[in-house]
Amino acid sequence: MTIVKTDVLILGAGLTGLTLAYRLRNLPITVKIVEARDRIGGRIKTIYDANGGSQEMGATWLGRKHISLFSLLKELKLETFIQILGDKAVFEPISTSPPQVVSLPPNSDPSFRIKGGTSNLINTLASHLSEGQIITGQPIQSITKEKGAFYAKSRDQLYRSKIVVSTLPPYLLTKTIEFNPSLPSSINATAAKTHTWMGESIKVGLTYKTPFWRADNTSGTIVSNVGPIPEMYDHSNVEETAFGLKGFFNGSYFSITKEERLALVLKQLEKYYGPQVRDYLTYEETVWRNEPYTFMAYDTHLLPHQNNGHPAFRKACFSGQFFAAGSETAKSHPGYMDGAISSANFVFEELKGSL
Ligand SMILES: Cc1cc2nc3c(=O)[nH]c(=O)nc-3n(C[C@H](O)[C@H](O)[C@H](O)COP(=O)(O)OP(=O)(O)OC[C@H]3O[C@@H](n4cnc5c(N)ncnc54)[C@H](O)[C@@H]3O)c2cc1C
Repeated sequence: MTIVKTDVLILGAGLTGLTLAYRLRNLPITVKIVEARDRIGGRIKTIYDANGGSQEMGATWLGRKHISLFSLLKELKLETFIQILGDKAVFEPISTSPPQVVSLPPNSDPSFRIKGGTSNLINTLASHLSEGQIITGQPIQSITKEKGAFYAKSRDQLYRSKIVVSTLPPYLLTKTIEFNPSLPSSINATAAKTHTWMGESIKVGLTYKTPFWRADNTSGTIVSNVGPIPEMYDHSNVEETAFGLKGFFNGSYFSITKEERLALVLKQLEKYYGPQVRDYLTYEETVWRNEPYTFMAYDTHLLPHQNNGHPAFRKACFSGQFFAAGSETAKSHPGYMDGAISSANFVFEELKGSL
């Protein structure tokens, strides 16, 4: 087994890992990112289709309060646009009543999407890194510290590094990587009770030739207490050349097949918009609960966001050489994209002086 030597080893090529590597790029040190999946982005996954449309299967929206994210987008010259909500929505209050069209109040604090898809942010960050800096398809299985250096072992490779920064969701860090010596109990105990934001969710999206949902005084905004889609929104591109609907699907349907979920999606949408919903161009879905590099069943019941932002994560351990980073560890907006960037910025500031 060959040994890859580097000054800083980042585990995970999601938004935290890529932002950190981007921040470190001008320092006179070597930085490698090892990623378990065959793709980069982690919980950011835009699926682009041949018709120019795209579907966000992971992170989609940002708000004005997400200042770290807005500032990074500005630095990278990426644009945003306002999520269409319309002034009317389809609302299904209860299974015994038919769906209604309701008026929406004016929205003074809109949500924004990233032009070109959220993966545009991921791909832009990666484009600033050098060839071979990101190694994909190599889940780290164990980390050993010996004589002042870490040895991280993946399926086919051994990495030697003075500094290791994990960006894995904390629960996966503690449950899937074997440490020798063990991670400090303060981090281990907290990580074992840290919820991974959106880990249980299912996203579904369809693209269409025309945005028929905007006719007849409605919009693509759907709120249903009946489901299985509780929320859905217009997901057309800002250029208005590709049209779609994208929403959440009840997470407890993770064990049925894609075809079965699609049948339920169409049945629900047909109630609102008629048989034209069956003339979709593409259907995409991601069942995040079935993604082992995002989700693993918890030992005990965890509340949404439980321990997100816990201060135990922001204390480097192993003599200041190991950081448990990632969105869930951030002080501000943990669990969200903004938290991922704030976590990367925090580790960068900590490392900058010592490197
Ligand atoms: C369905 C969904 C909807 C969301 N919607 C929004 C939204 O609208 N707005 C918002 O702000 N946020 C949203 N989020 C949250 C947002 O996606 C995350 O906060 C952010 O992407 C986390 O980035 P991260 O790099 O910290 O973690 P991750 O993206 O989870 O990255 C961790 C990386 O580590 C890798 N990894 C795991 N195990 C190993 C291993 N053993 N070895 C090496 N690599 C490993 C993973 O493959 C992954 O690439 C959503 C998330 C989901 C799933």
